[in-house]
Order: sequence, then C-alpha cells, then structure tokens
Amino acid sequence: MLKKVLLVLFFAGCVSCPGHHNSAVFLDNKKNKIYKTSFCEPENSFPQMIVVPFFGRATQIVPNCQTYPKHKTSLALMVFYHHWVKSFGDENLVVKKALEKIMIEWGVNKKVVKKGYSLDGKERRDVTVVGMTKTKSYIWVWQGYNHKISESSLIHELVHVALRAKNGHGDSDHEGDIYHGWTKQHTTMILEAKEVLRSFNI
Ligand SMILES: [Zn+2]
Repeated sequence: MLKKVLLVLFFAGCVSCPGHHNSAVFLDNKKNKIYKTSFCEPENSFPQMIVVPFFGRATQIVPNCQTYPKHKTSLALMVFYHHWVKSFGDENLVVKKALEKIMIEWGVNKKVVKKGYSLDGKERRDVTVVGMTKTKSYIWVWQGYNHKISESSLIHELVHVALRAKNGHGDSDHEGDIYHGWTKQHTTMILEAKEVLRSFNI
C-alpha cells in the first residue's frame, strides 16, 4: 500500500513540474499491441526489423535474435535519455522525439570508412569504426566487445543523434574545434550511462 502511495506521489510530482522531463515520459503503453506483436523470429531470414518497445516508432534491424533482444535495446535508450536530460535537459522534447523515430542497425562486424574523427577531433583516414550516425534518425552500431550493449558505441551514436536534433548537426569531430556541440560533458555523460548499462548487465 505504502509503495502504491509513493508511486502515485512520484508520478503526481512529475505532472506538477512540466519543466522536468525524464525517462518516465516513455513509460506509457499506447502502442502496446505492436510492441507485443513485433518480435524476432529465429527461423526467418535476417536481417529483421523489430519495433523497440516504449519508443514510438523506433525500430532496430537485427542480424540475429541475440543482437539484441528488444527490451535490452529499449532499456539502453531509457538509460541514455535519463542521463541526457540530467546533464542537458530536453527543451521542447526534441531529443525524445528523435529517439521515437530512431532506427538502430546492429552489425556483427566492425566497418572501415574513408574518413572519420577521433574523440579529440583528429581526422583519421581509412579508419575502422564501431558505430556511425548515418542520418538524423538512422544509426549503425557494431554489437560491441563481449557482446554487450554497454561495450558498444550505442550511447555515443545517440549523443550524435541528440546533438543533431538540437543543433541541426551531430558534431562529427566530437571534442574537436571544427564543429561545435560536443563537449567534455557529453563524453562524461556517455561514461556514466555505460556504467549504468553495466550494472544492468546489458
Ligand atoms: Zn562519433
């Protein structure tokens, strides 16, 4: 009973402070039906596209059913958004809206691209990458070390997506000076979010 009361107080508290948006904004089940009917089918051919629960029209393209179960991806998105809002807020919910349109393609192998930037903004040629933000709502993410979302670049790519939603570009040179948006605070936020994913063992 006490738990229920506390829960009600918690949500009532959220309603009364519209300036604060956190990951709870995703926890409605309006698209319940599609969340239940969209799932990975191991007997079918791959890749398969699966709806990510709780995130509007967000989807993931998976190379197999282990990479990754949709609820793990959904939890990772929630952890990202929680940390993003805690660090940077989300005025007009632009980041939330971007997440609700995102398509995440998981890859089993890393890729080589012609040009990229290191975290400190140095240009690299023919570089092996573990993730790419391809458009404002489409990211490719290598499955990660030890097959864990926490050891993938998902959170990093989501920062590009959030910056793009906010500023019109994703700041491809990270902490470098060519483009602006990405700060040390973004890098710190990624580390914190990944630490939480590790505590969920995902
Ligand atoms: Zn990047």
